[in-house]
Amino acid sequence: MQTYDVLVVGAGPAGVSAARSAAKSGAQTILLEKNPKIMAVKPCGEATGRQTFETAGISPKSSIILHKANAMVYAPDMSYVLIDQSGYSINKSMFLLEVAAKAAEEGAQIRVRETVTSLERTDGFMRVKGLHDVYQAKVVIGADGYNSTVAKSLGIREKSEPISTVQYVMANCRLEYPDSARFFLGHEIAPKGYAWIFPRGENLAEVGIGVRGASAKLYLDKFIKRFSNELGDAQIMDYRGAPVPIGGLISENVVDGAILVGDAAGTVVPLTGAGIHASTAAGVIAGEVAAEAALDGDTSSGRLQGFTKRYDAHWGKKIRRSLKVMRAIEGMKDKDLNQLATLLKGEDILDLANGMDVKRVALMLMKHPMLAVKLARHLM
Ligand SMILES: Cc1cc2nc3c(=O)[nH]c(=O)nc-3n(C[C@H](O)[C@H](O)[C@H](O)COP(=O)(O)OP(=O)(O)OC[C@H]3O[C@@H](n4cnc5c(N)ncnc54)[C@H](O)[C@@H]3O)c2cc1C
Repeated sequence: MQTYDVLVVGAGPAGVSAARSAAKSGAQTILLEKNPKIMAVKPCGEATGRQTFETAGISPKSSIILHKANAMVYAPDMSYVLIDQSGYSINKSMFLLEVAAKAAEEGAQIRVRETVTSLERTDGFMRVKGLHDVYQAKVVIGADGYNSTVAKSLGIREKSEPISTVQYVMANCRLEYPDSARFFLGHEIAPKGYAWIFPRGENLAEVGIGVRGASAKLYLDKFIKRFSNELGDAQIMDYRGAPVPIGGLISENVVDGAILVGDAAGTVVPLTGAGIHASTAAGVIAGEVAAEAALDGDTSSGRLQGFTKRYDAHWGKKIRRSLKVMRAIEGMKDKDLNQLATLLKGEDILDLANGMDVKRVALMLMKHPMLAVKLARHLM
């Protein structure tokens, strides 16, 4: 049985990034993925920003980027705020493959079709059982998604609160705004969540919804009926759903010999449900911290807390602020959301959703008596 410095479980955005950064930091690294190929198996809107590429350390090649799109955020009365900044609609499988290929170039071993079934810590090492082999590693990075086997094996029961989502990829759409990713809010449309239409090319779009306390499929089908002018003749090419952890970071994502990252640890921006960038960043930091700890011979949780400290400095703060905004907005009635849309500009929505300069927006909203009580004071 070969001993690795760092063993990464799962080749989503968190895992491929972790494997690359651990190998780059000089650790003997292996990445295990249960699927037969590195690809985006879980449903995903595949929308992300330019900065994701910077964090992942790859260039935004045309083979990964399908197209650029601005964003339109709709209030329940269908008025909208334009966010005139281009984001990317990506081919996530190509993104993962590119980062995994860089990990391999850095010397990481990559093994697909290997499902991790359990792990335990004995004599200061993590012993990892796969369907095909048993592996030994100084540090394990659990990047195996929301229903993490690594977390379960480590006895970590805490999970970030999920929102259930369903997404169709639809062909034969007649999109009114083929260059815009559109987000639709409101209790009638998507209770405690939002619906989206993300164009993927000519007449092709990802149409999805995230809701809490209601059936996502039921609301998605209602949404599609409502948009029958654009989606009435469209056909479903792909129909999948998955939980998205939008309740913020779990409190214990580091134990002796292991770090949890990505959806397994709740590294998703709560209000948007965006996890590609946040989990890529978590993977990069975890890979570095794990490699340094393994090479120094101290893989205690105290040492691995270096991950928590570094992630918290930027992303942890953003995630907490975005969660606060989500909690404040989820209690608002549709008529309040309509009023909010008349006051916010694109950059205000970006700041609120991403947990950036929330205070600035809250101060601006304080001038409006009703919103000061219902929203702004909760954000201060
Ligand atoms: C419908 C939907 C739409 C979304 N849209 C967007 C979006 O537009 N933009 C955005 O930024 N985010 C979006 N997200 C969120 C984003 O997809 C996730 O946050 C992100 O993929 C999390 O990455 P991850 O690496 O933590 O986990 P995952 O992407 O879930 O990857 C986990 C990997 O681990 C593997 N694995 C699992 N168990 C094992 C095991 N036992 N052994 C070996 N391998 C294992 C899996 O096969 C998988 O490859 C969306 C999510 C959903 C559900």
